Amino acid sequence: MSKCQLCDKQEDEKNIQEQAGYSVCLSCDCKYTDNELIQLMQLSMLDNYNLYEFHSGGGCMHFAYDTDIDELQWLINDVDESKEPSQQYPTNKNQRCMFGLYYGYIDSKLGAKVKKELFYSSSLPNWQFYDEGFYFYDTLENGVSKMKEVTQSINNLLKEKK
Ligand SMILES: [Zn+2]
Repeated sequence: MSKCQLCDKQEDEKNIQEQAGYSVCLSCDCKYTDNELIQLMQLSMLDNYNLYEFHSGGGCMHFAYDTDIDELQWLINDVDESKEPSQQYPTNKNQRCMFGLYYGYIDSKLGAKVKKELFYSSSLPNWQFYDEGFYFYDTLENGVSKMKEVTQSINNLLKEKK
């Protein structure tokens, strides 16, 4: 059995078609243009994963997720084979994505704590630090829950006694 990525219906493999890189059932296939389909999928991903769309300037667009700390947000982009972020919204939950968190904008003491928290959450796949930021790679579908888990530990930093 396969699942239609648009209506979530379970279908026999032979009744699943591919459109614009998605697996869709026969009743959803060709119901929309490729562009409409991509937009619908993006909206449903934003909704399902509780993310929002963010423009960081210069035409760069990301899916984003806030921590409880001001100015500290995750930015998510799909990546190509060279691991470079697309700077466009991800289009498919199976895409390999970069989940980035830049803590250079926040108070440096708090930033150091965030860094430590990220370091000890190294269950994250393919993670790396750079300057004052951090990123890891995973598919959108798998990465979102890991991102939210580590965000929970970061949010808990605010509750710690000084
Ligand atoms: Zn369908």
